[in-house]
Amino acid sequence: MSVLKSFIAGEWIGEQQAKALPSAINGEIVAHTHGDTLDFKKAAEYGRKVGGKTLLAMDFQERALALKAMALYLQEHKKELYALSMHTGSSKADNGIDIDGGFGTLFSYASMGRRELPSGNVVHEGPVTPLGKNNHFAGTHIMVPRGGVALHIDAYNFPVWGMLEKFAPTFLAGMPSIVKPATSTCYVTELAVRLMHESGALPEGSLQLIIGSTGDLFEHLEEQDVVTFTGSAKTARMLRNHPNIINRSIPFNAEADSLNSAVLAPDVTPEHEEFDLFVREVGREMVAKAGQKCTAIRRVMVPQDQVQAVCDKLKKRLSKITTGDPSVEGVRMGALASIDQLEDVKANIQELLKTSELVFGGEGNFKPTGEGTEKGAFIEPHLLVCRNPENGCGAHDIEAFGPVATIIPYNTLDEAVELVAKGRGSLVTTVTTRDPVTIAKLAPALAAYHGRLHLLDAEAAKESTGHGSPLPMLKHGGPGRAGGGEELGGIRAVYHYLQRTAIQGSPTMLAAVTGEYVRGAKVIENDIHPFRYHFEDLQINQSLLTHRRTVTEADLVNFGCLSGDHFYMHFDEIAAKNSQFGKRIAHGYFVLSAAAGLFVDPGEGPVLANYGLDTLRFIEPVAPGDTIRARLTCKRKIDQGRTSPDGHPQGVVVWDVQVTNQEDELVASYDILTLVAKKPE
Ligand code: NDP
Repeated sequence: MSVLKSFIAGEWIGEQQAKALPSAINGEIVAHTHGDTLDFKKAAEYGRKVGGKTLLAMDFQERALALKAMALYLQEHKKELYALSMHTGSSKADNGIDIDGGFGTLFSYASMGRRELPSGNVVHEGPVTPLGKNNHFAGTHIMVPRGGVALHIDAYNFPVWGMLEKFAPTFLAGMPSIVKPATSTCYVTELAVRLMHESGALPEGSLQLIIGSTGDLFEHLEEQDVVTFTGSAKTARMLRNHPNIINRSIPFNAEADSLNSAVLAPDVTPEHEEFDLFVREVGREMVAKAGQKCTAIRRVMVPQDQVQAVCDKLKKRLSKITTGDPSVEGVRMGALASIDQLEDVKANIQELLKTSELVFGGEGNFKPTGEGTEKGAFIEPHLLVCRNPENGCGAHDIEAFGPVATIIPYNTLDEAVELVAKGRGSLVTTVTTRDPVTIAKLAPALAAYHGRLHLLDAEAAKESTGHGSPLPMLKHGGPGRAGGGEELGGIRAVYHYLQRTAIQGSPTMLAAVTGEYVRGAKVIENDIHPFRYHFEDLQINQSLLTHRRTVTEADLVNFGCLSGDHFYMHFDEIAAKNSQFGKRIAHGYFVLSAAAGLFVDPGEGPVLANYGLDTLRFIEPVAPGDTIRARLTCKRKIDQGRTSPDGHPQGVVVWDVQVTNQEDELVASYDILTLVAKKPE
């Protein structure tokens, strides 16, 4: 039987057989952990020194491309991961969430990185704030990769997604990872890490793997490091209170137990489509991954007079679920991850039964489908009802991490919110109502206790990704009992691995640090128009101050006729006189167009396309008789490794545009986004 290996300081380590890891389906041994001693001090130092260096030899854009390459390689080897993952008890649908969901997260961070992060390794978080009267001193913020390693400790329920959702933003940020999967399912993570190394897209030292215990690693963590954790609240509490974590102020992000809810609003009754949608969502969440999801619905808040109807429909749905070996045709729900977990869930059901009654499951005639499954970790869905929650309800405290949910009746919506809040902070709640007025009141009240709210009605159901699926672009994590942490959430997740620093200085120095033109910085001007430079040759701060143009009444008339915009402010002398401007003024879009006419270099050249404007503001009115001019300055360059449809390499250039009048007052301000060709090879 194979011995799993750790990957530490560039070596696969693991010869001595240690703990046997049985299949959750039939109890057969899938693999053994290794008993070889690991040098955790070396692992941390190697991550910082080697991984940190190779990662920072790349920039945000290059790392985003590497993430995509890893995702593509993993996708090619999906079948191997699916086959092995079956032993964790996962059905095909569960593997879809864990394995394809993991790849999807890599792809998402690859494209977010390319779209939203700059070239280089400094993120400029503007705006720049002038701190002096004459703009010689200003302030802004930058974010740079933390110089340490990120230790990621994962739960057993998602051995692939759990690792990748933490790794992707860390890698993109430029920080090396040490991942420690939960022991019971670590054989799947080991395969995923092997494949990532095989892909050739991982720079040396950027990903290490621990099979088994973290030993004395916590002793060797330093101030620049980060720890993230998913698992039980008890372990989270113990680890975040490790003296070294406290003494060195090491960020510790936790995602722990969560007693998530679903709330059926009183306006939804059995004749509505939403009633069935609600029941379907609860049923699906109980069964997906055999209920071993941090986001699974544990508490089902239902108006008192609908309890029986919800119970009946849910029972009917659950009675159709076949539990057993997922490779057998027709099996919908697999096993729990281990026998230990099965015992734990059974014990927690007994605890829940002290305040609730069982309405489905546990009749004693359950037999999982498939050969050898009597040795597996199977349990059928269990539905409970807590009839008198005012006398106490164990479901607000006890997490049975399996296919278990408790229906809790309520009388008013305020009471429903109070009941949900008894979970002391959760990852997600689904609310089902048909009434926008109800949701407008309910959602803000519930939001205080949640990381995410899923609003389910017939319209959303057509495309809903479901209650239980954390998405890369939305925040995952919840307050209080849910751990108080935050993962995913788009590019913000990358910022968890960057240090934000305020920078004060002259605009010229701020431009040098941020890699972006900052207004007031010294500009570079010469006789060559900035549009004549190829991407590589164009410099940040390269600038053009145009000739002037006096705006006439004919301009207003011509622009109005051309555009069809005859707004009174441009054409009605009397109305314009009565307005705050006291006179007719030019169209804002005319000012934009006239500015383009002033700064554009018309001949064929490296500037290929203008694909939009950002941060446009019309600051002062422009009236006939005013004289305008524009300053065009190269603000930001992003090399995304793009090519045009006909194969020519190109980069993104953002230009700062300031349009001023005869008094040197700013009348319009914006950024123009262009594609600029690279030099022909
Ligand atoms: P644990 O908290 O015991 O384990 C979670 C992770 O922490 C595992 O990788 C585990 O490794 C690791 N770990 C445990 N002790 C230490 C330690 N002293 N130092 C470093 N790492 C440590 O959770 P379980 O996996 O046992 O699950 C227990 C319960 O937690 C579940 O029944 C469920 O209620 C809840 N849970 C919640 C999840 C969520 O996402 N909200 C996810 C999973 C579980 P190892 O496996 O090697 O012990």
